Amino acid sequence: MSYDDQNIFAKILRGEIPSIKVYEDDRVLAFMDIMPQADGHTLVIPKASAVTLLDLDPAEAAYTIQIVQKIARAIEKAFDAKGIVLMQLSGAAAGQTVPHVHFHLIPSSIHQMRTHAAQMGDQVAITQHAEKIKAALAEID
Ligand code: AMP
Repeated sequence: MSYDDQNIFAKILRGEIPSIKVYEDDRVLAFMDIMPQADGHTLVIPKASAVTLLDLDPAEAAYTIQIVQKIARAIEKAFDAKGIVLMQLSGAAAGQTVPHVHFHLIPSSIHQMRTHAAQMGDQVAITQHAEKIKAALAEID
């Protein structure tokens, strides 16, 4: 699928719009979802341009999953999470709303999550959640 470099995550990657980051390296960025389905809802995205998981270079997919696991460990620690939902929507038909491949990490039960991409979260609370995740990352690194 052709990649639209004006999508919102491409703009975040270029620093054109703000995001609440918890992790960044040369290949991956992790930041807070602004419409969290649970406290601590985090997005992990490869920097490579790809719309869906099916478009993503396998090596980038493999590396991104390593970082997904690292962030999941930090979320588990930060929120004392008993379970974490890993969600990846590929294609509008699956409900994907932002056309840059991303992995959702949601410390919640699949039965208790808030509705997807429905309601803006409280920015102060989200920033506090990001601080907790960053502190946990620093401790487990
Ligand atoms: P999806 O529907 O799987 O493409 O998920 C896109 C996610 O991006 C949703 O959970 C939205 O709440 C989230 N989102 C949209 N815009 C932003 C933004 N500017 N910063 C952080 N998260 C965003």
